[in-house]
Amino acid sequence: MAKKNIKCDFCGRPASAAEVMIPSAVSDTYICSDCVEQIDDLLKDYKSQTTKENTSNADEKGSLDKVPKPKEINDFLNQYVIGQEDAKKYLSVAVYNHYKRLLQENDDDVDIEKSNIIMVGSTGTGKTLLAKTIAKLLDVPFTIVDATVLTEAGYVGEDIESLLTRLLQVADYDVKKAERGIVFIDEIDKIARKGDNPSITRDVSGEGVQQGLLKLLEGSIVNVPPQGGRKHPEQKMIPVNTKDILFICGGAFDGIEKKIAQRLNTHVVGYSSSSKKEKIDRNNFLKHIAPQDLKSFGLIPEIIGRLPILTHLDPLDRTALRRILTEPKNAIIKQYERMFDMDGVKLTFQPETLDLIVDKAIEYKLGARGLRSIVETIMIDPMYELPSTGIKEFTVDPDFALNKLEEANFE
Ligand code: ADP
Repeated sequence: MAKKNIKCDFCGRPASAAEVMIPSAVSDTYICSDCVEQIDDLLKDYKSQTTKENTSNADEKGSLDKVPKPKEINDFLNQYVIGQEDAKKYLSVAVYNHYKRLLQENDDDVDIEKSNIIMVGSTGTGKTLLAKTIAKLLDVPFTIVDATVLTEAGYVGEDIESLLTRLLQVADYDVKKAERGIVFIDEIDKIARKGDNPSITRDVSGEGVQQGLLKLLEGSIVNVPPQGGRKHPEQKMIPVNTKDILFICGGAFDGIEKKIAQRLNTHVVGYSSSSKKEKIDRNNFLKHIAPQDLKSFGLIPEIIGRLPILTHLDPLDRTALRRILTEPKNAIIKQYERMFDMDGVKLTFQPETLDLIVDKAIEYKLGARGLRSIVETIMIDPMYELPSTGIKEFTVDPDFALNKLEEANFE
């Protein structure tokens, strides 16, 4: 009968080539099991896609309940960053307020203004680490860019607008998303005007760049090259509104302590001087940083005005360095223990060895960045040899560590 000619009405496959043929309940048509499976896959994909879109739409509107509270942000930062309590507090509040701003209804007659942040602290004290850690917690696009590559339009280097290219990229070129993102601008001090006098010659890396940056910070529509740089002159620019983008700037501002000290000294003469003087921490002038110090350093007042939240990072002392070795969630020592554990070796660093590592980092003025290279130098041989030995336990004592550093001429 007709049964012999049965074929799938979707793909045309004959019944003999299909595992199962499923008949329609209402007409004389069939579908094969392969087509059913394919349709099932398609449906699953479609469903997961629409759920994702719905959740991200919901997130976009969102509610403040879903946003981590400043204390929660701070707790999260504590897992990765040692010390720097001031910076953590300021950042936590600023990020929380950023969300409030994003959630604000358009018709609200009180307009919450953007609170861009500037963090001042020596190199290697955790500015980038703070920014990166914050990014882990947030569900807004986040990117780190470097101010040293910037020059005034028309000169060799990158245009200011290219700062936003990376943000667009991490937002998958979803402009709406990018317009709510956070940009960390590192080495902001490198675009300071050199010297207090406005230069008579053209200042390619100084004031011109600051003027350009100002546009971004205060909120305007800028044309962003989607591929960055000037290598692709044919690329179509994407207009991005920076009104709701939060900018976090960081810089070492080498030598700013002198300017702070000068200001404090001129201020402390007078009747109330004695009580004020006592409060000044002469080992850490950065603690007393104020906007006028940024101006003396060479940032233009308009930029300073657009970075209303000013905070500092403390220098890392011996205790902080020692804690950095072992305490953060991804502390260097924890990483090494884990790596050895994967070879079935129980690795132990004697406490005196850890002290020695810190001493060396201080001796060679390497700061927190040096800790890793010191540990790396000590551990290269055991990492090379142990996996082939069957040894189950390995303890790093100070003599062993010192030996390895000497062998490697570590400096
Ligand atoms: P910078 O202030 O120059 O941006 P980074 O944040 O890049 O310094 O710090 C360099 C490295 O030193 C970090 O990746 C981290 O391993 C370590 N480090 C620096 N400061 C801290 C800190 N406060 N807590 C934990 N680790 C730190």
